[in-house]
Amino acid sequence: LPVVAIVGRPNVGKSALVNRILGRREAVVEDTPGVTRDRVTYKAEWADRRFSLVDTGGWEPDARGIDRSVAAQAEVAIDLADVVLFVVDAMVGATSTDEHVVKLLRKSGKPVFLVANKIDDARQEPEAAALWNLGLGEPHPVSAIHGRGVADLLDALLKTLPDVSAVAKAEIGGPRRVAILGRPNVGKSSLLNKAAGEERVVVNDLAGTTRDPVDEIVELGGKLWRLVDTAGIRRRVHMAQGADFYASLRTSAALEKAEVAVVVLDVSETISEQDVRIIDLVLESGRALVLAFNKWDRLNDDDLENADRRRYLEREIEQDLAHVAWAPRVNISAKTGRHLDKLVPALETAIENWDRRIPTGKFNAFLAELVAEHPHPLRGGKQPRILFGTQASTRPPTFVLFTTGFLDPGYRRFIQRRLRELYEFDGTPIVINMRVRE
Ligand code: GDP
Repeated sequence: LPVVAIVGRPNVGKSALVNRILGRREAVVEDTPGVTRDRVTYKAEWADRRFSLVDTGGWEPDARGIDRSVAAQAEVAIDLADVVLFVVDAMVGATSTDEHVVKLLRKSGKPVFLVANKIDDARQEPEAAALWNLGLGEPHPVSAIHGRGVADLLDALLKTLPDVSAVAKAEIGGPRRVAILGRPNVGKSSLLNKAAGEERVVVNDLAGTTRDPVDEIVELGGKLWRLVDTAGIRRRVHMAQGADFYASLRTSAALEKAEVAVVVLDVSETISEQDVRIIDLVLESGRALVLAFNKWDRLNDDDLENADRRRYLEREIEQDLAHVAWAPRVNISAKTGRHLDKLVPALETAIENWDRRIPTGKFNAFLAELVAEHPHPLRGGKQPRILFGTQASTRPPTFVLFTTGFLDPGYRRFIQRRLRELYEFDGTPIVINMRVRE
């Protein structure tokens, strides 16, 4: 999906605009600055076009940090969005922070929509017109809270959104898109440098690809791969506060562009909550997943302590990563280059399975056998029945079951497990949805 990012100072109404675009009533508008929101990416739809909406404003700093925080938002938006919505509080007018962001946005050459918010009625429109002098073109007067002007804004926005299907078509047979993710210092940039190394292909007009300066095309295992958002790996956010937020913002935005994620972990350190959170972002995005356990050179001697660590690592993986036991694991050393060649087959497996389709006849035969062997437990004397199932889509494989009642979560997990046992689904999440006919 094309990505639209919303950028702006604290309190200009970014969250209100997000809610308005998503068409939700229950507002997540916060008047208190400094609130952290976990979700940053939303699926939006307007006039039958779908796009991802990235709210860059989830972390709002105190007054001293505003410039850096808004600049960090702009950086993510510029690198990873197709179109930027830059929101200004028209009743306040452009501040020096706004002007700073305008400079960044103009230099980037990305399409930008200047949103003049808080224009609650027509009499206030001159305030919006005053924003012409920011040099970002026509200000779009809106009231995010009341909805005024938002439809016009979205109509205009859709005209500049890249045509997804055209992009998708151009990329068939083109390089697969890989995001390298992981918390700081696990070895992402070492891996990138080793992988890109001398083999880096400098491309400007590789046939059938859209060029994006934050991506790198590398040749691995005889194939070309597009590593997305390598700028986010090379450049680091140096911020006292909010760095975590901007890192996960970047992760979410990079996932939007990727087909498969390599999550890098450091075997010399305990698996942390942050590692698990990054993996969960991948699951939420529905992308294929490969786990790269890095820095094996540190554990590979006969040192007793290392033997302990190796044993402990297995336990940690069982405990903390049980929910992604289906993800291919590669043990590598970005430093020595050891086993880096194992990464490519793992990526290929993950992507292939992410694309896999089970024919409807086969899937229903599978369901019939499974139910015969293991009927759903009785609930209040009744038993929900599965009438029919089909795989609605791939990327990731998504199944729909038509049932006569809700299936227990445990039973759905059982179906997932059996699917994985019988078919090749290593490296991909599986989604099972239900349509209940009462
Ligand atoms: P990033 O923040 O994830 O990009 O991590 P870096 O690639 O900058 O690596 C962080 C530190 O770990 C650096 O000092 C690297 O030299 C070191 N490092 C990275 N990969 C390995 C590895 O495979 N083995 C060892 N021993 N050190 C590594």
